[in-house]
Amino acid sequence: MEKTIECQECHKKFTNMTTHLIRAHSLSKKDYQLKYPGAKIVSDTFREWQKNRMDRLYESDDVDYRKVAGSRTFDFVKNKKLRLLLQRDYQYAKKCLQNELWKPTIILYGSLIEAVLRENTGIKNFKSALNKALSNGIISETEFHQIHVVRDFRNFVHLHKELSEGGRRVISDNWAKTLSDICESLIRRFRKAGKL
Ligand SMILES: [Zn+2]
Repeated sequence: MEKTIECQECHKKFTNMTTHLIRAHSLSKKDYQLKYPGAKIVSDTFREWQKNRMDRLYESDDVDYRKVAGSRTFDFVKNKKLRLLLQRDYQYAKKCLQNELWKPTIILYGSLIEAVLRENTGIKNFKSALNKALSNGIISETEFHQIHVVRDFRNFVHLHKELSEGGRRVISDNWAKTLSDICESLIRRFRKAGKL
């Protein structure tokens, strides 16, 4: 299975070229495929990863995700204003992930996870909310540690912080995908449990 595909226009390699085509060559997917019949827009591995992710969403036992229209995702949050903010950032996060913008993906999913955990535990401090969520069995030990790493990443909003890390913690697709998985999984659990 190929990891990357080559842009027929400039011969650079990508896993997903959608944004590149528009930005670099002002070509929509359709224009590009008309110009280069049969050319791929996303690599096999990217497609596979996306497909697996969707399959896992659809596996959920009592929530039919195919029917969940965007705005119903956070139905389990009582506060309407917060629900709208969650919904908005969730859309942003998914778009960033789709377009392989790993840093904003990590920051957005991190803040979504923080918000739902704070709502769920009723604790305002993220660190304490995280501890409570672990002791309540809302999150697993592994997730607990992963979310902790993300608390650090969020400080990378300050570029001097990222600079001072000297590459110890590196923004990567791996972390973006991990966070997306944790967030989707939490949403699924909370939806199942009902209103917060
Ligand atoms: Zn190109």
